[in-house]
Amino acid sequence: FEKVQKVDPQVAEAMKLELNRQRNNIELIASENFVSPAVMQAMGSPLTNKYAEGYPGKRYYGGCEYVDIVEDLARDRLKELFGAEHANVQPHSGAQANMAVYFAFLKPGDKVLGMNLSHGGHLTHGSPVNISGTYFDFIDYGVDKDRETINYEELEKSALENKPKMIVAGASAYPRIIDFERISKITNKINAYFMVDMAHIAGLVAAGLHPNPVPFADFVTSTTHKTLRGPRGGIILCKEKYAKAIDKAIFPGTQGGPLMHVIAAKAVSFKEALTSEFKKYQQQILNNARALAETLKEKGFKLVSDGTDNHLILMDLRNHNITGKDAEKRLDEVGVTVNKNTIPFDPESPFITSGIRIGTPAVTTRGMKEEDMKEIAEIIHLTLTQWDNSQDKIREMVANLCRRYPLY
Ligand code: PLP
Repeated sequence: FEKVQKVDPQVAEAMKLELNRQRNNIELIASENFVSPAVMQAMGSPLTNKYAEGYPGKRYYGGCEYVDIVEDLARDRLKELFGAEHANVQPHSGAQANMAVYFAFLKPGDKVLGMNLSHGGHLTHGSPVNISGTYFDFIDYGVDKDRETINYEELEKSALENKPKMIVAGASAYPRIIDFERISKITNKINAYFMVDMAHIAGLVAAGLHPNPVPFADFVTSTTHKTLRGPRGGIILCKEKYAKAIDKAIFPGTQGGPLMHVIAAKAVSFKEALTSEFKKYQQQILNNARALAETLKEKGFKLVSDGTDNHLILMDLRNHNITGKDAEKRLDEVGVTVNKNTIPFDPESPFITSGIRIGTPAVTTRGMKEEDMKEIAEIIHLTLTQWDNSQDKIREMVANLCRRYPLY
């Protein structure tokens, strides 16, 4: 960071510390990843200087001929990746992508069905503290108490009863496959719009390792920075018949100028996602998540829904007498980064919680494999059950793993 160091040593120092944290910690936050140096370079490029309100060929500023090339590449690659008719790559984030779909197709007060936040849904799917839950009348669906998987029968019952204008599927903390085809049949019965937010699983979908929502949903939104391993940002995919309305809802509806440096980084990451190496990477994410889940279970941990089909695991810590908040803090102290998370029907508040969410995308990018997941499971086990006499040993195990898999 020499140039930053020269102008602003305080920021440079914090950046160095953050890079060291990423290098020396085991990153298990399910929504995080490490982008490639090529993606990083596109982000930190002169494209940040350009105003390009509008869309390729129809801009409100001059000098857009080169950023048009970039945005066209990003859109074409994204359509190819997911088999979509139309793509918008301008949303600044996943939340912005969701807001734009709502803005385009809902009116304040409209009924919408979304997944309960404490069962795995996202804030933007109707939480009362989010604009979605304030402007629209969200009704939630969730998981079955015993199986801890989405209760599709209840979802259908609620849809038939409430006749929402839209059903939103997708989650931030759901470890199982989501049956988009089944939900689309429900939306068809009531003539509702179907929106899928595939933020967490987009990389798996791109690699063909999770059912693709694109053929079934009217709109598919996503972030680009989770399993998809692009820069921080959002996207919207839709059928051609909705293209105009979606584009209008992003600009001028809810955003101003697009972040062209980020769109360039998105384009690079989509090119990476079209390769066979990316497919292997996604398969390894799944293999690692399974290995981690199995080993945690062998060590006596309870997992929500008893396992995982995707990149994440939700640990239910109630039988270990530790809250999610305390587990997160303790793991942090030994260099393992996770986040506390509510479990379905959680008796604790969202600030305390009874669970932690862990994911394998970032450690898989570092090159870790199934054997390393067994070690990570042992680190988690020692941290949560033998804290008083194992801290030095745990720190050594974490340092060893990080040394074996260098980052940047
Ligand atoms: N949708 C889902 C399912 C998510 O998990 C997230 C992020 O956690 C978002 C949307 C929001 O994305 P962003 O943080 O880019 O606004």
